[in-house]
Amino acid sequence: HASMTSEKKDLFTVESPNVVYTDDDIKSKYVYRTTSVSQAGNGKYVATPKETVYDFKVERKVGKVGMMLVGWGGNNGTTVTAGIIANKRGLTWDTREGPRAANYYGSVVMASTMKLGTEAKTGKEINIPFHDVLPMVHPNDLVIGGWDISSMNLAQAMDRAAVLEPTLKNLVKKEMAEMKPLPSIYYPDFIAANQGDRANNLIEGSKACMAHVEKLRKDIRDFKETNGLDKVIVQWTANTERYADLIDGVNDTADNLMKAIENGHPEVAPSTVFAVACILENAPFINGSPQNTFVPGAIELAEKHGAFIGGDDFKSGQTKMKSALVDFMINAGLKLTSIASYNHLGNNDGMNLSSQKQFRSKEISKSNVVDDMVEANNILYEPGEHPDHCVVIKYMPAVGDNKRALDEYYAEIFMGGHQTISLFNVCEDSLLASPLIIDLVLVAEMMTRISWKTNDSEEYKGFHSVLSILSYMLKAPLTPPGTPVVNALAKQRGALTNIFRACVGLQPESDMTLEHKLF
Ligand code: NAD
Repeated sequence: HASMTSEKKDLFTVESPNVVYTDDDIKSKYVYRTTSVSQAGNGKYVATPKETVYDFKVERKVGKVGMMLVGWGGNNGTTVTAGIIANKRGLTWDTREGPRAANYYGSVVMASTMKLGTEAKTGKEINIPFHDVLPMVHPNDLVIGGWDISSMNLAQAMDRAAVLEPTLKNLVKKEMAEMKPLPSIYYPDFIAANQGDRANNLIEGSKACMAHVEKLRKDIRDFKETNGLDKVIVQWTANTERYADLIDGVNDTADNLMKAIENGHPEVAPSTVFAVACILENAPFINGSPQNTFVPGAIELAEKHGAFIGGDDFKSGQTKMKSALVDFMINAGLKLTSIASYNHLGNNDGMNLSSQKQFRSKEISKSNVVDDMVEANNILYEPGEHPDHCVVIKYMPAVGDNKRALDEYYAEIFMGGHQTISLFNVCEDSLLASPLIIDLVLVAEMMTRISWKTNDSEEYKGFHSVLSILSYMLKAPLTPPGTPVVNALAKQRGALTNIFRACVGLQPESDMTLEHKLF
């Protein structure tokens, strides 16, 4: 079974004087071509082609990688764990629709392809798995662990989640019963009061403190040592927290944030304490929920330590559609005038979001996702003009993890006409989120092995601490301070695929196919 084997040889090599393979790494010299624009006095633009030469270096040895999830016992945590075990063991199970086999559908890295190029003789497009472009870790090889404020072992927690088929659960139950989340930190003020009942696996203390940071750091080190890991990637897939207030002197700088933790300031969220612990352990930390974990002080701390962070909020269903559909509409010249987004769901996430402050975090992260596309079109929109956009989320226990998302897109078309597009999107939320969790780990891990320099510098260095390359998988992408946010799905995928191509000295896929047009 192909998906079970993680050891594999390179599927292709690049033949170019700019690309050198050694046992340890792939080195490429890459010409990055952009267009620099200036505005002349008469209001006209002057566009100047610009070239920057970068040296990229990709470490070929992947090593042994661990994935630690905060909220491991939740719907996402249990589903992604069971999914990886099922893939690793190549399981098939019976359903009322016949047998089903483990797969990685929904993972860009594991289940999508990228055009490598065109076959010289036939002119045929050659596509290869995304996973084969660079030497990446295989999800089957991830060692999984994590924390939860609920003490259930992963088999019990998987039952509680009510996502997977009983026949599949039976096959992984034994292994999952052995998996027990580490106790976690719980500051009741940050998540909904309705979560209190499951909080029975706690590290002592109900506000931020250095002892918590140190305990979490030790958890990461112990996990690494016990499993003989080269590195650990940590991901927050725990409950959505309320926003933390941004307060000068508390979370505005790295030093102030550390002091605030020492002093037990009540505005430091558990997710921020996790982020700090990971930054200090140099373990990449990704936030899969919408809250503002990465307060300015946390971002500065990451920059200081050259540690990777990424966020926020998995982009699984409704927003993924939105960032594809709106990209299409506005780029087709249709004037989108409103988006009404309604959801109901019945899982624990839904219960937590039924509380106003936690819903507010989600509302914020779901709200700005079309801004870049609107701003880019000054024919359809005046400066500052926005489509109306409303987001509603309701808790409906009966539907469980089967989230319903109803969206209405209303647009102005030619000559004052209107177009209304209604979408009804139904599926298990955790089955969409799990492959994103995998992609985020795989890409973040990859980024720890890519370094770059310019011609005149001696030393290779890493990408910026804030991994905006993860944007495709995230609703409210975190970008380096002062840099633009890209929400448009196609652009996000382009950034991901083209940066990977650049690392092996290949130009972006331009889709011009001149070879089929000029002959
Ligand atoms: P869930 O409620 O089933 O799981 C969350 C888990 O986190 C629970 O087991 C809970 O006990 C645990 N937890 C809460 N606070 C914790 C803490 N401080 N430390 C450790 N564990 C803690 O939710 P889920 O459906 O798995 O979703 C997880 C998160 O991902 C939510 O915030 C959700 O908004 C976000 N998210 C999910 C999706 C999706 O499922 N499609 C998409 C985007 C974002």
